[in-house]
Amino acid sequence: MKESRIEISHARCDFCGTCVAVCPADAITLEESAISVDPETCTVCLNCVHICPLGVPEVVK
Ligand code: SF4
Ligand code: SF4
Repeated sequence: MKESRIEISHARCDFCGTCVAVCPADAITLEESAISVDPETCTVCLNCVHICPLGVPEVVK
């Protein structure tokens, strides 16, 4: 098990897709009004955390 994972809050996300474009692991799935991160595929590189204009993705221990 990894020590941390990424959580994306639907309530604050505007589904712009910016984080999807910078995910090297292709771990983020974006649909019209839903977004999810596959914890198995995610390497917790933090690209999405740093690039999101709304500061939505969060590292959860
Ligand atoms: S970059 Fe931020 S606002 Fe845009 S889809 Fe990703 S989490 Fe949502
Ligand atoms: S932390 Fe890195 S690998 Fe994980 S979802 Fe974000 S961009 Fe993708």
